[in-house]
Amino acid sequence: MQGYARICGWTLKKPQFQESISMTKYTPSLLHGSCECGTCTLDAKVIPTARLICHCTICQRFMGKSFSDVTVIAAKQLEVKNIEQISFKKYRPPPNLARGLCLNCKKPVVEFIGFGPFKLAFIPSSNFESQHLLPAPYMHIFYEKRLENAPDNLPKYNGYISSQLAIGKMLISRL
Ligand SMILES: [Zn+2]
Ligand SMILES: [Zn+2]
Repeated sequence: MQGYARICGWTLKKPQFQESISMTKYTPSLLHGSCECGTCTLDAKVIPTARLICHCTICQRFMGKSFSDVTVIAAKQLEVKNIEQISFKKYRPPPNLARGLCLNCKKPVVEFIGFGPFKLAFIPSSNFESQHLLPAPYMHIFYEKRLENAPDNLPKYNGYISSQLAIGKMLISRL
């Protein structure tokens, strides 16, 4: 219990409160993350298996970086806390992403696409704490929009159609 309290950063003041916490009731998230300020937290119930790097201009603007490194999981496997603190915005017509910025730090938290059982969450990979649990990126998409060359041997896809097909293939094989 001591270790558990330390890991979660909690200060448990009353011993009787400590004893009332049952470890069996605690469902750990496999991967924890948050926006930059920590207001909006993310807990993945699965270890992600899909990750990509997008160089499109919308991602560049949204991320405030030269590219977007995102990890993809089924939305139902992701628990988002303080979702009311996230401003979701769509930047282009379908099939598009609803891109969520934290209202406090104004930094990307999560992006959603699709609906129902097909809803997916795209999470900026740097939002996760345990980086070693993330898969390596599988590919680069919209590579023709890159601001800098990628120093790796990953597959690189240019243009909308090739990039969308590549995402589809990755998701079918990985999720
Ligand atoms: Zn924030
Ligand atoms: Zn993009």
